[in-house]
Amino acid sequence: MKYVSTRGQAAPVDFVGACLAGLAPDGGLYVPESYPRIDPARADEPYAHVAARILSAFAGDAIPEADMLAMCERAYASFSHHSVAPLTQAGPGLWLMELHHGPTLAFKDVAMQIIAQLYDYMLGKTGRRLSIVCATSGDTGGAAAAAFAGAKHADLFILHPHARISPVQRLFMTTTGASNVTNLALDGDFDDCQAIVKSLFADKAFADKVGLSGVNSINWARIAAQTVYYATAQAALGGKLRFVVPSGNMGDALAGYVAARCGLLAGGLEIACAVNENDALARLFNTGIMSRAAAVATPSPAMDISVPSNFERLLFEATGRDGDAVRGVYDQYRQAGEAGLPDTARGRLDCVGISASTVSNGETLAEMARFESETGWLICPHTAVGTYQARQTPRSDVNTVVLATAAAAKFPETVKQATGLDAPLPHRCGALLARGEVFERLPAEPSAVRAAIESKRRAVS
Ligand SMILES: *Cc1c(COP(=O)(O)O)cnc(C)c1O
Repeated sequence: MKYVSTRGQAAPVDFVGACLAGLAPDGGLYVPESYPRIDPARADEPYAHVAARILSAFAGDAIPEADMLAMCERAYASFSHHSVAPLTQAGPGLWLMELHHGPTLAFKDVAMQIIAQLYDYMLGKTGRRLSIVCATSGDTGGAAAAAFAGAKHADLFILHPHARISPVQRLFMTTTGASNVTNLALDGDFDDCQAIVKSLFADKAFADKVGLSGVNSINWARIAAQTVYYATAQAALGGKLRFVVPSGNMGDALAGYVAARCGLLAGGLEIACAVNENDALARLFNTGIMSRAAAVATPSPAMDISVPSNFERLLFEATGRDGDAVRGVYDQYRQAGEAGLPDTARGRLDCVGISASTVSNGETLAEMARFESETGWLICPHTAVGTYQARQTPRSDVNTVVLATAAAAKFPETVKQATGLDAPLPHRCGALLARGEVFERLPAEPSAVRAAIESKRRAVS
């Protein structure tokens, strides 16, 4: 099983190489050289077994299947619901797929829990050790902290903008008590954090010395892990399904595309991406133009994305796997701040079964209130973007599955504003939150972050 870059100028690598590198050396994203055929999930198959089968198909010879199963069982034992991604009915033909039963109450846990297992396994085999850096505006940092806490071969450094993320989100990152997790609170905004991570990777000597790596939304392992719940939803409900996916970087929706390509969905692909007022993805699908726009604040901050990074993987397929064409689009976008998609790619995108549309801030808050009055359940603002979209486009011929990407309790301020109700954290979070917070406040300077990484990372044994 080999992985190639979407920009066509990097040598193929195996699963381990693709996962540990994240971004390909030519700036592209890794995709499988060809999509494996995978048997659909069975209704009675435990989640960890489905995950092991699917991830083994993507890993090829790189990891023995028994080891993969052991890792998946450990990863998903951390979820409070033994189905991992249970379906609940919200109305006739309308289902929520609850992806928020992991340790930090957001769907990022589904991929991050298994990625941490995979990293520790792969690093242990190769005798390498890595310093993983992660800039976060919220959910990714917490999910990474929970997953990598106690990892033997990796140290995790999380950069967050000081006093600019929600208290609950910060607590999930800063209370792990693990010596291999370091939280750096920078005096700056999220863009500063991201710019510093970029500059660390650009400093080749430093990156090599500390074994710098990332776990962001472009990592192939994340996509692979997220295909699993599309397969289990298909097994549970049967027939053709429509998925509505609250989207930011489009990792989640892309996983649905991959599931279909591998034969895990019946009746073909239908995915509606629902985005907030940061509508770059909807503009891409509806106008064929990739254009720069400053991110605006919304009630669904995990989707405040100005360039949906995983779109590149879909564009690669839509160009007929033409790395030169993909590179051309991104080069032009970088230079001019705007790029049109090639006509042939636009034509193919129209047929792939994915669409995207925008939901406003006001519609999101009203949907949270309406959902509560109709079902008695509180939903998070990201999920509400999805249920609103589903409601706008009712369907009688298929079951609709909306991905519930976080628990309401993770966004108590927004829930209160929308519904007037409190969304208390579940019991299982109590012990974690009773621990003291540990973070280090630093100026938003690459040199300060470099020094922190040098002093905190464990020496190579
Ligand atoms: C990350 C995130 C999203 C967006 O997912 P993408 O894969 O980036 O499209 C949606 N909702 C929540 C709660 C998230 O944390």
